[in-house]
Amino acid sequence: MTVSGKTAIVTGSNSGIGLGVARELARAGANVVLNSFTDREEDHALAADVAKEFGVEARYIQADMSKGVECRALITKAGGCDILVNNAGIQHVAPIDEFPVDKWDAIIAINMNSVFHTTAAALPEMRVRGWGRVINIASAHGLTASPYKAAYVAAKHGVVGMSKTVALETAEEPITCNAICPGYVLTPLVEAQIPDTMEKYGMEREEVIKKVMLERQPSREFATVEQLGGTVVFLASDAAAQITGTTISVDGGWTAL
Ligand code: NAD
Repeated sequence: MTVSGKTAIVTGSNSGIGLGVARELARAGANVVLNSFTDREEDHALAADVAKEFGVEARYIQADMSKGVECRALITKAGGCDILVNNAGIQHVAPIDEFPVDKWDAIIAINMNSVFHTTAAALPEMRVRGWGRVINIASAHGLTASPYKAAYVAAKHGVVGMSKTVALETAEEPITCNAICPGYVLTPLVEAQIPDTMEKYGMEREEVIKKVMLERQPSREFATVEQLGGTVVFLASDAAAQITGTTISVDGGWTAL
């Protein structure tokens, strides 16, 4: 079995890592479903561009990953799912005693609960087809912590734990479940953290990038969305058939420290 011809659903894929992952899956021949909570012309145009560039089927399906019903509806509307990439995620940075409750709830819902809902909806379909891959985009923060990121760290540790459980529940089937743990990847999500971090540390942009953000990334290089996409394609391949219930770090050595 190869990735070619498979149907891959990538949540939160109208920008950043999700779009990079969808593009690499399409490059490998998969038909892809892009997703986010918006329903704009440019969202659908992204899918059309992917279809044209890689000669695969590509669709954009709107669904809000903060809502369990919509997470499940995404899988149903896609009409099939061989490869599920749970990527949608948001971030908010604040000390725990000042952490806004609505931000906490949104991060837990989008970054963690959505993984429960989409996986629960996709697994029966994978079982019918006799093959499946669940690939969760967790984070180095699924394995380690940083101050001011309580909700994100909790959600990502939750995703790593959930990935292990799903792997055990599917261990005797041709289905695997793993989590990828990126360090810093320069995407809109990371870009949005730069102004706050500059203010918190009283530093200029380049100083914040090298000394604060990449301080824990020994390579001092951001990972790229193409590298994340390549890791997803590998986990979806036959070579990874016995890799399940584990994490793959793409973090320039962060978790080796
Ligand atoms: P991004 O902001 O570029 O992308 C996030 C995606 O999620 C977007 O497509 C956005 O539209 C979508 N999204 C947000 N809320 C949604 C909702 N309610 N419903 C559906 N889609 C929604 O950020 P990114 O950096 O590409 O992050 C992607 C994933 O990678 C996240 O889970 C993030 O935690 C994880 N991650 C990112 C980094 C990094 O350095 N960028 C590091 C580790 C992990």
